[in-house]
Amino acid sequence: MSEFKLEAIKCKNCGSGLMVELNDLVTYCTNCGSGFEILGGEMKPIEINFASPARPAEGDIVYKPFWILKANVTILERTATGGFLKNLFGGNDGSGGKIKFYIPAFRMPVDNLREMASAFTIKDPVPSPQKFNVKVTGFTYDREDALKIAEFLLISFEAEKSDTMKTFRYEINVDSYEILGIPFYKQSNGNLRDAIIGLSI
Ligand SMILES: [Zn+2]
Repeated sequence: MSEFKLEAIKCKNCGSGLMVELNDLVTYCTNCGSGFEILGGEMKPIEINFASPARPAEGDIVYKPFWILKANVTILERTATGGFLKNLFGGNDGSGGKIKFYIPAFRMPVDNLREMASAFTIKDPVPSPQKFNVKVTGFTYDREDALKIAEFLLISFEAEKSDTMKTFRYEINVDSYEILGIPFYKQSNGNLRDAIIGLSI
């Protein structure tokens, strides 16, 4: 028996057949636009939208999943000052604010993961995603992984400020978890290049 078989399930919203790869954590119905997170064998609804390609390049387009965490960050204590969070939170006193984390949900080398999550989170390049009739597969990180990566990003943003950070205490409250399909070009050398910012993996 193959371990890589597909499982046939039905969309809970419209009844269309969905083919799910065994390790996929999330599935998307291209018929009605419903998304489902598969948790303990149950299908739980989750919002899934897509970004349009923003820059042209050679190669076929595939959509890869990102977690979008809309979160409130409260800086409880930070015993050095700097400018980075001002940019990230749109200008305030450094006590925190709203932030939209873009966390890749598909497997890639950790350096690429960090670079891509940072660049997308800082730029917030997809303010108005839409429903597309496209396939998105390859979910390997679940929402708990996504939250851990978001916390890692927040800490590394702070640590990379030009000052010397002595202490940093924070709270992240996630208001919503959503999925965003980001278009990538499959390049002839086997790399993937995103069609929004232009990073390669
Ligand atoms: Zn459906």
